[in-house]
Amino acid sequence: MTKRPTPSTFRGNKAALPSKPCEACGRPMTWRRRWARTWDAVKYCSEACRRSKNPDR
Ligand SMILES: [Zn+2]
Repeated sequence: MTKRPTPSTFRGNKAALPSKPCEACGRPMTWRRRWARTWDAVKYCSEACRRSKNPDR
């Protein structure tokens, strides 16, 4: 019996999180818990990216 997790299990766990590219820098951003409610509206990975795309605000 082994106690350590298999690599395949570890990978599958990580892939379960959704991700999408940031519209500003194009970097893939992984789902965060704080985005649970706004994930659909999230377009930028950080506040800096949001500002760079929306210099007006
Ligand atoms: Zn970004």
